[in-house]
Amino acid sequence: MPESNKHPLTIRLCQPRGFCAGVDRAIQIVVLALKKYGAPVYVRHEIVHNRYVVEGLQNLGAVFIEEIDEIPDEHRDCPVVFSAHGVPKSVPRDAAERALFYLDATCPLVSKVHKQAIRHHRLGRHVVLVGHAGHPEVIGTMGQLPDGAVSLIETEEDVARFAPADPAALGFVTQTTLSVDDTAGIVGALQRRFPAIQAPAAESICYATTNRQEAVKETAPGADLFLIVGAPNSSNSRRLVEVAERSGAKRALLVQRAADIAWDEIGPIRTLGLSAGASAPEIIVNEIVEAFRDRFDVTVELAVTATETEDFPVMRALRDVELTRADMAFVNG
Ligand code: SF4
Repeated sequence: MPESNKHPLTIRLCQPRGFCAGVDRAIQIVVLALKKYGAPVYVRHEIVHNRYVVEGLQNLGAVFIEEIDEIPDEHRDCPVVFSAHGVPKSVPRDAAERALFYLDATCPLVSKVHKQAIRHHRLGRHVVLVGHAGHPEVIGTMGQLPDGAVSLIETEEDVARFAPADPAALGFVTQTTLSVDDTAGIVGALQRRFPAIQAPAAESICYATTNRQEAVKETAPGADLFLIVGAPNSSNSRRLVEVAERSGAKRALLVQRAADIAWDEIGPIRTLGLSAGASAPEIIVNEIVEAFRDRFDVTVELAVTATETEDFPVMRALRDVELTRADMAFVNG
């Protein structure tokens, strides 16, 4: 179709979007470990919740496993990387017992939440973790403390049902990737019901989650459609879809690749909001913009709501390996 026959479409592209410093660091750790030690490098759990990233790393020689006992004895010298979501204390302990060589890619901001939970426990408080059951970060945080030391709260209804042994000795932390607004509601309910409950010393929801939600909130009003690039098992991506819907986008959808877009169901749109969860690579955002350019006369407007400068260095063991642009081209384009 000639350019002039295409319908005009404004894409409001959120910034910040996509990779956060913790995800970037975790991917770098796998890439650097492959460069330094060669394949295979084992990775426990999806390093970040994104199929495209996982497949890219598999192509470089990473082997994804769910538990470290899947590593054969003859590969005990190969590194095993723990994912950015964090792991229960039992995992590094078991790895040490088997004399495995492990590299912990837990995001420093998740480690901070672990420390806050441990601090509450040391001060004699029962820990309330606000988060989603079954999410690896929640499993990792609960696994920092003995069984029974942590109670998981998912909703305000859970707060109403919660019956702690000592309501005067409670402390809370939250998952890093929750909805800022929903969490404020749950924490408010906890504080009303248990006025003595102690907050963590620092906010648990991370800067990347907060900034991406804020950007979507500001960009969504009036958007005919809002697309969030991300995986169905990515907590922060799913929260962005909810934020877009609540903030005035007519429709909001999660997409993993341009090929997932059901073009015949999109209908007439003039304004598209576009963002990406913290585990979604920029190369897919570009792919989606190009797919719209093929069908619409696209104008891209950058919607900048914050500037991020966070950068988490990799562990010392990998700092002697040079990371080039080409090494990360599979995610950055
Ligand atoms: S979303 Fe936040 S906590 Fe999770 S890896 Fe990124 S920076 Fe770290």
